[in-house]
Amino acid sequence: SEGNIMSENIRTFKKSSKLDNVLYDVRGPVVDEAARLESEGAHILKLNIGNPAPFGFRTPFEVIQDMRDQLPECEGYSDSRGLFSARKAIMQYAQLKGLPNVSMDGIYTGNGVSELINLCMQALLDTGDEILIPSPDYPLWTACATLSGGTPVHYRCDEQADWNPDLADMEAKITPRTKAIVIINPNNPTGAVYAKEVLEGIVEIARKHQLMIFADEIYDRLCMDDAEHVSIASLAPDLFCVTFSGLSKSHMIAGYRIGWMIVSGNKRLGEDFMLGVNMLSNMRLCSNVPAQSIVQTALGGHQSVKSYVVPGGRVCEQRNYVYEALNAIDGITAVKPKAAFYIFPKMDVKKFNIRDDEQFALDLLHQKGILITRGGGFNWPEPDHFRIVYLPPMDVLHEAMEDLAEFFETYRQR
Ligand code: PLP
Repeated sequence: SEGNIMSENIRTFKKSSKLDNVLYDVRGPVVDEAARLESEGAHILKLNIGNPAPFGFRTPFEVIQDMRDQLPECEGYSDSRGLFSARKAIMQYAQLKGLPNVSMDGIYTGNGVSELINLCMQALLDTGDEILIPSPDYPLWTACATLSGGTPVHYRCDEQADWNPDLADMEAKITPRTKAIVIINPNNPTGAVYAKEVLEGIVEIARKHQLMIFADEIYDRLCMDDAEHVSIASLAPDLFCVTFSGLSKSHMIAGYRIGWMIVSGNKRLGEDFMLGVNMLSNMRLCSNVPAQSIVQTALGGHQSVKSYVVPGGRVCEQRNYVYEALNAIDGITAVKPKAAFYIFPKMDVKKFNIRDDEQFALDLLHQKGILITRGGGFNWPEPDHFRIVYLPPMDVLHEAMEDLAEFFETYRQR
């Protein structure tokens, strides 16, 4: 039979064992199942991807115009760190955020923040080195740390404290192998914006244990209500910090692939690490040059994102609606997000008899055609949370919340 031939003579190709423990569920098995259902003609309400453009969020027209004008000049590679104009604009942005001791050669553009997260993990971690990462997290951090051979160690963010990091837990998880702390602020998936005192506490811990800080701040321009974003690096001039941001979310151009990282603080501490960063940066030649060419216009020009997050703006109104609608469901509670476009509700697992959150996500998909991401996809250890992206327009959210309420009503009676 074919099976025998395969096993006796034909070599098949297995993925590398480096990937054995890598988890990236935001585009994982439940998403594959949704795609299969769609291919059979089903209609799926997608509340799973933080990609604003398909939901009608647009970048300011001047950004498109600028790329169009500059395209003929963008045929070649740029400096591996990025175009001067892009880095100069990022430098100004860093100054506005109060980042200390930033220089042009400490600014790197990337094909999204994603590329730079991977680059930093590869440059820093040896097998067995530990890095503190939040739980819940944006799972790319954990995936890249694992892929690099390092060991991600998760500290808890505390739902009771508006999802701020639990500093006691963070400190308790430090060992002699710990090299760095990652914070994601504003946070995906919780929508939290960290209090200044909490950030000061994290700086204190990093100082005491001589750790470097990675701050993923890609949502810093999507704060709502009176939430004020503070860059942790601005509080740590004596430490070695790397701050990440980009235009994917603030300018709704995730598809252009442009992000950056900014090195700040006491750079002598990270000199050798930076040799590694430079080597990897050179090896990838440079990031997408047309996307770099619009950074100056995007950062210096009209900030249309503001109109989405003020009261009455689309993101703010949709947040208000989803927050109310979720909390109105018996057995569901959710902390009100203060930034970004995610909410991370809690389910009463006893009431709903939930033991496996992937099964829950599949049941919701099969029964109501709603696609969410399970909490486990964000390295959350219990099966009692899920993430909703509230970017789709209000009529879609209405339908989704009604269906969700019906679903939980029957789910509890299983
Ligand atoms: N960091 C966080 C916290 C994110 O949520 C995302 C995307 O969802 C990224 C980084 C990646 O963004 P980019 O498009 O810049 O690669």
